[in-house]
Amino acid sequence: MSERAGTPYHCPFCGETDLWPHEAAHGSWECRACLRAFQLKSLGQISRPQISRVTKEAQA
Ligand SMILES: [Zn+2]
Repeated sequence: MSERAGTPYHCPFCGETDLWPHEAAHGSWECRACLRAFQLKSLGQISRPQISRVTKEAQA
């Protein structure tokens, strides 16, 4: 499994889909709708949420 994040489909700032690879840094993207550049980065794996426990707390 790759640690590299995939291709974003929507800009996290404006929600537009006009995204292009940003040449300044590997793995970064630029939104040509709101003219922002951003990076997707994996923070590593997380533990699996306890679904049943969350459901009980939501009902309490
Ligand atoms: Zn945008």
